[in-house]
Amino acid sequence: MSILKKMPKSITMIKAAKKTPMRKCVGCQEMKTKKELIRIIRTPEGRIVLDDRGKQNGRGAYLCPDPSCLARAKRSKGLERSLKTAIPEDIYHRLEEELKKI
Ligand SMILES: [Zn+2]
Repeated sequence: MSILKKMPKSITMIKAAKKTPMRKCVGCQEMKTKKELIRIIRTPEGRIVLDDRGKQNGRGAYLCPDPSCLARAKRSKGLERSLKTAIPEDIYHRLEEELKKI
């Protein structure tokens, strides 16, 4: 019984190791590789920042480096849902400015 219980988890791990990790853009909802997307995180202090190196801790969401995807994520509230927090207008504005610099 114990072997059967462990099976599903190990199968999932094998599949994950073989495939390039894919993430979904919170704007256009397309699956892309992590390299094609930028990560937006909510830090433990509650700040919403672009994590262009993918190294920071915190709850993250993925977005195409495209202001139109940010606009869609804002309209659909997909980013707020992913980060589980309300995002004020000025934060979106700052993210948009940072996106343009990438
Ligand atoms: Zn997108």
